[in-house]
This record gives sequence, C-alpha cells and structure tokens, in this order.
Amino acid sequence: MLQIRLAVSLALSFVVAATTTTGCSSDEDTHPDQPLEDDSIEDGAGDGEADDGVGDDCRARVITLQASGGPNWWGLPDYSGAGVSTALLIDGFVYLVDAADGIAGKWGDAGLNGSPNAEKLQQLRAAFITHMHTDHISGLPVLMAQGTNPAQPGAGGPLPVYGPFSVEDTGPAPPGAPPGAGGGTRSGVEEFFAQLQQALSVDLRADPRSFLTPINITLPESVEGEASSATPYPAMDPFVVYEDENVLVTATLVNHFYPSFAYRFDTEFGSVTISGDTARDTNGNLERLARGSDYLLLEVILDDEEFGVSFLDDLYGPPPHGTAAQAFRERFSAIHVDSKETGDVADDSEVDTLILHHLVPPPADPETRQKYIEDARLGFSGRVEVARDLDEYCLD
Ligand SMILES: [Zn+2]
Ligand SMILES: [Zn+2]
Repeated sequence: MLQIRLAVSLALSFVVAATTTTGCSSDEDTHPDQPLEDDSIEDGAGDGEADDGVGDDCRARVITLQASGGPNWWGLPDYSGAGVSTALLIDGFVYLVDAADGIAGKWGDAGLNGSPNAEKLQQLRAAFITHMHTDHISGLPVLMAQGTNPAQPGAGGPLPVYGPFSVEDTGPAPPGAPPGAGGGTRSGVEEFFAQLQQALSVDLRADPRSFLTPINITLPESVEGEASSATPYPAMDPFVVYEDENVLVTATLVNHFYPSFAYRFDTEFGSVTISGDTARDTNGNLERLARGSDYLLLEVILDDEEFGVSFLDDLYGPPPHGTAAQAFRERFSAIHVDSKETGDVADDSEVDTLILHHLVPPPADPETRQKYIEDARLGFSGRVEVARDLDEYCLD
C-alpha cells in the first residue's frame, strides 16, 4: 500500500512541478518541531462509539473536532460551537482542516493541550481551509490571535494556513442566495488574514507574518483558464498543496461556490479525504481525489419531510414555505450532498469507510442517526459512520 502511495506521490509531484505556485511548503513555512508526547493524548475523548479501537499505539488518527455544518447557534439548546473542524494527528503533529466557532474548546477536549507547549499550538504544523463559509472559518480569529500569537511567550511560528484564493468577480447571485452574495469580490485566506490583522492590531502586538502565513492556493496551469465563478469545478486531476515528512496533501475543486476545495492526506499509515462542502456532481473531481482512501469524510444534509427532519423546517417552521424560504431550500440543496446520495459518492470513490460529518442537521436522536446510515447504505456496502464531535478514527 505504501508503494501505491509513493507512486501517487511521485505522479502528483510531477503535476506540481508543472505548475507555478501550488503552495508547497518549505522548511521555513512549517511550525517548529514540538510533537505532542504520546501519553499526553487522551484517547476516547469524544463521546462517539468510533473511539473504539483507537489506542495509545495509534500513530495517525482523524479527530472530528466538530462534526456539524452551519446550524444557527440560537437554535441549539446545548450549544458549544457549531460548524466543522477536523484534526489529523500524525506522530504527535496536528494538521487542521477548517476552524469553526468553538474550536478552542474542542481542541482541549480532544486532548491536544496535553504537552507542555501545546497551549502555544507548537505541534500544529499546517492548516487547510476548504472554503470561506462561516461554519468553516469562524474559529480562525481565535486560532490566530489567541493561539499562534507570539505575544504569548514561547509560541513558535509561522503556521502555514492554506486555503482559497481571492475572486474579483463572483458573478451574479444565484437564486436564493443572500443579499451581497454575487457581483463582487471574495477574499482568499491571504486577504482574510490581512483584514483580520488590521482589525486586531491592538491585540496582536507583533507582525502577524512572524507567526502565521496564509497562502492562497494556486490552481495548476492546466485548469487555471477553465475555472471561474461560472465554471467552478472543471474536471481536473488532484494537485499537490503541501508535503512534509509526515504527509502529502492534495486538493481538487468541488461543487459549492468558487473556489471550494476538497483535500486528501496520504501518510505512511493510511489516507483520508475530506470533501469540504460540495454537491454530489463534481465532474468526478472528488471521486478522483478520494479514490481508494481509507476514510472519506463527506458532508451531508438530511432534508426528508417524510421522515420529519428538515433543515429548512428547523429554520422556518413546517410547510408551507414562503417564496424566499423555498428559494433558500433549492439553493441549499443544489450545493450540498443529500443523505441519499452519500453512498453513491463513497462507492464511486472506492473508499473503505464513509464518515458522514458536517451534519445538517446534527442528529437529535438515535433514529435520525440511523436514518443517516440507512440513506448512505442505499449506495454503499462498506463501513458507514456518523461522526460526533471528538470522535477518533485510527489510520494505522
Ligand atoms: Zn458548511
Ligand atoms: Zn459551505
């Protein structure tokens, strides 16, 4: 299996060599070497059954720090942060995908504060942002100002944060989109942090570039002319974003808004693909990226009036819905994977295990949790999991 991965690595290295800047890291980009000590990691910190079998000897694990997608905080009785954040813990180093509201608390709950230096996030090697929706990036200000900031003595840096590039013309707003969603510019991660750094300058007390390096991902030349707000996910091969001694990270464009990325992490222990937000049809991009992964973390929405669970009903009350709510429903459905489609994505990707996360809505009872699983099994005969916050899955 390692041979296969190395072959993939070499092939992808060729792809990146043929591009301009795809954000490959250098030694200067990475955080100082301060791995978590093995005995500091609290196995089974989550409340999920998926923690079973993840022992102290697991050297590479996926931690679903936050497993829900986009719910409104005022509607949740046990609110402790909403949105999606995922950590990969590989030989004591952490790689983060997205950073939602509440991530600081989940970080500690997952046992990632276990080392003497962990409060400075020195074991965090790199972060990857899938797209610029708030349920994926609301935690970034905390991560920067109160995590990596060297105003807190002992912090290292700089932390590379890879993510979407800026778009000057987002095109017209699609039907059902909120006001201001179209016809303007959209910040990439470099612009996002520049704006944030300016706004938080009183608190930061240091040049943020000394502790955090946002990097707008550059598309391979082969698709640079094809991808746009009008064609947000042209068919493409995965391309390399980042590589160090622990992991090779590749990416592709998916079907949400432009640009939205899915990421794949290949390690010597195994592989995991994280879909980001996307609709079912990605011109095969997600399936090409995920092909043969041990784990596919796939976003999902459950909108089944017959079953009695609907994100829109949660937001607006039961039908009949007004015109605006109906337009929102159609827009929302057009840019996410329906629960009944999740198994097809996993099957086409030939993955071992499908982990549903970014759950909209998060299951409020065992029956709803089971409904997610049964819908996935319509198209997939492999292992299916419904992630809870702080679940862990071992890669080796
Ligand atoms: Zn989302
Ligand atoms: Zn989104």
